Amino acid sequence: MTERHVQCSTCGVLRPEGESRNIPTLAGEPYVDGYYCSAHAGAALDAARAHLAALDFEDDTRDDMMPLVSFHALVRARGLMSETLDPPAPGVGMERVRNEALALLDLLRHTRLPIVEPSALCSGCYRPVPASQVRVIPWFNDDLADFVTTFRCGDCVADSLADTRARLTAGGPREVGRLAEFFHRHAITIHEHRRGDPPEAVRPLLELTLEHLVRGTLKLQLGETVPLNDVLSAAAPAPPPAPSPEPAAEPPLAAAEPRPAPSLWQRIRRAFGRAGD
Ligand SMILES: [Zn+2]
Ligand SMILES: [Zn+2]
Repeated sequence: MTERHVQCSTCGVLRPEGESRNIPTLAGEPYVDGYYCSAHAGAALDAARAHLAALDFEDDTRDDMMPLVSFHALVRARGLMSETLDPPAPGVGMERVRNEALALLDLLRHTRLPIVEPSALCSGCYRPVPASQVRVIPWFNDDLADFVTTFRCGDCVADSLADTRARLTAGGPREVGRLAEFFHRHAITIHEHRRGDPPEAVRPLLELTLEHLVRGTLKLQLGETVPLNDVLSAAAPAPPPAPSPEPAAEPPLAAAEPRPAPSLWQRIRRAFGRAGD
């Protein structure tokens, strides 16, 4: 089988796992596995180091212990222990814990953390990718004459979604209904379809939903077809938070939840020119 391919969080390029790095990356409060190509791993390490170095344990208005604790839990679960540091990190209390984290980050410039999550196979190019990176999309199956769930890697998703859009554009009321039912099975209910509005009213909502899938602002879960969610939560204690599918189709899809104020990490990432991911 083809070697697993991993998509870099910075440049979006898929590369063989052997050319990819797992660098602890802050996602909100906790540190999680972050995947990068060799060219961008250094910047990810620098960003983690800058964040950990700037944590303020004296400020009671902020909980800066949580990210530090999650960092240690993550790298420990991947096999990197602070007890193995030689010489031991200096300092006492939380300062020592921080210095241990910084020393472990320095080790990561020469040491690889494993990528432990399960794989999912892209049905376009047949390369396995980490399950958290696979894109779940509707695909028209001619034998079934219906839209079915299929998986695509980051390289294949755009072309495949273009095919699905073309199928919707060329299709009639039946295709409109089948695609609306596909999204309903993925917990995205298009109210206008459920209450029996004509296909002309439902079609633009489906096109909008597909547009959100293309842009990645909407992500379908791997779901019942592959019982990976349990495996994922067992294997990866802190998977990146996936945006929950919008329950209704009232556009715009992104208007549901108020955005929290930017975290320290988000501000740091902006300072590094890494806003948006
Ligand atoms: Zn890259
Ligand atoms: Zn692919």
